[in-house]
Amino acid sequence: MKPLIAIVVPAYNEMKNIPALVEKLDEVLENSKYEFRYVFVDDGSKDGTAFTLKALAEKHRKVFYILLSRNFGKDEALKAGVDACHDAVAVITMDADLQHPPRLIPEMIANWEEGNDIVYAYRKEANPHTSFAHKIYSKWFYKLANMLSEVQLEQGISDFRLMDKKVVDNLISIEESGLFLRGLVKWVGYEQKGIEYMPDERFSGDTAYSKIALLKLAIKGMTAFSVKPLYLAVFLGFFFSLASLLYIPYVIISLIMKFSVSGWPSIICTIVFLGGLQLIILGIIGIYIGKIFIEVKGRPQYIIKTSNLDIQQKL
Ligand code: UDP
Ligand code: MG
Repeated sequence: MKPLIAIVVPAYNEMKNIPALVEKLDEVLENSKYEFRYVFVDDGSKDGTAFTLKALAEKHRKVFYILLSRNFGKDEALKAGVDACHDAVAVITMDADLQHPPRLIPEMIANWEEGNDIVYAYRKEANPHTSFAHKIYSKWFYKLANMLSEVQLEQGISDFRLMDKKVVDNLISIEESGLFLRGLVKWVGYEQKGIEYMPDERFSGDTAYSKIALLKLAIKGMTAFSVKPLYLAVFLGFFFSLASLLYIPYVIISLIMKFSVSGWPSIICTIVFLGGLQLIILGIIGIYIGKIFIEVKGRPQYIIKTSNLDIQQKL
C-alpha cells in the first residue's frame, strides 16, 4: 500500500472553487508514489458548499468532508482537518480558492523527502492580486508582529504548507483557543524550509476577510504569541514619569517668579493625551484578560456536525 498524504482544505462559501480544485489536484498528483486524501472542512458555509462536498464525495473516492456546526474561522477549520489526519505520513494545508497553486505540491513533497519536516510557501514579492492598501497593511503586520513576538514570521508566509507526521502529532495535541496556526507551526520548530511562490488570482467569489477581520487577525497574531505588548504600559509609564520630572522644576520656578497662570492649553493637552494612552493600555490588558477568560472555559476549538471520515471528537 502506498503511504498516505492528506490535503486539508478549509472552505467557507467555496462551492464554485472546490470542484475546480479537486480537478487540478487530480491532474498534478496523478502517478505519484503516494496515496492522496483530500479533506475538505466546511466552515459553516452559507452557500451550497456542504452539498457540493457530499455530492463530490459520492463519486470521488479521494474526497472526504468534515462539516463544522457553524463558522469557526479558518484556523479552527484547518485544525479540525489536521486532527482527522493522524494516519497520514504528511499533511498539506491549502486554501480552497486556487490561490495556492497545486503545482507546487510535488516540489513540497520533494523537499520533505530531503528531510525537511515543514515546507511552507511564502510570497517573496507582494501579491499582485491584492489592493495597494492590503499590501501596505500586510507588510506592516509582519514587521510589527515580529517586533512584538518571540516567534518570527517570514514576510508573506501563508497557510500553504506541508507538515511531517511528527509536526502534525504535535499540532493535534495543542488545545489552546484563539488558534493562530501560522505562528504555531513556526513555534513547533523542527527542520523548516520555505519555498517561494506567487499566489494566483482567486478562482471564484470574494475574500472572506474584511478590513475589520484583518485587523482582528493581526491583533490575534500578535497577542497569541507574546506578552510583550504589556511591557508597552511599563515603558510608556516610565517615559512620562521622567518627562513630568523635567516639568516640575519649571512649575516651581514659575511659582517663585510669579508667571501668569496661562496653563489651560497644556493641561488639556496632557489630559487628553494621557487619557488616550490609558485607554490603549487598558485595551491591551483587556485583550489578554479576555484570552484567559476564554482559555479557562476549556471549550473545544470546533464542533463537527458530520463527516464521512471516522472521527472521534474530544468533547
Ligand atoms: N476560510 C474559512 N473560514 C473563514 C474564512 C475563510 O475556512 O471563516 C477559508 C476560505 O474558504 C479559503 C481560505 O480560508 O479556503 C482563505 O480564505 P480567503 O481566500 O477568503 O482569504 P485570503 O485569500 O483573502 O487571505
Ligand atoms: Mg484567498
